[in-house]
Amino acid sequence: MTKTSKRAIRDKGPFFVTDESRWQALVDKDERADGLFWFSVKTTGVYCRPSCPARLANRENVAFHLSPKDAEKAGFRACKRSCRLLRKRSLRDPHG
Ligand SMILES: [Zn+2]
Repeated sequence: MTKTSKRAIRDKGPFFVTDESRWQALVDKDERADGLFWFSVKTTGVYCRPSCPARLANRENVAFHLSPKDAEKAGFRACKRSCRLLRKRSLRDPHG
């Protein structure tokens, strides 16, 4: 049995299409994941970019979203750290 290396998967792409690879990006605070997906924390009601400097939540409380709007629709608000700035850049809605 060969064990699949998570690192190999990440390096080949497409990046972060599975929850597992997304979770790994949070663990690594992988900046390549910023803007590709977002994660929310059920216990705090906040969503963040993958490389957010905030302390990592428990896996069971984390959900993934493809855009800040997705996360907001699900009832989460933007993290107060630098995630907010990134959110502005990634939203194309001029009224946003
Ligand atoms: Zn954050």
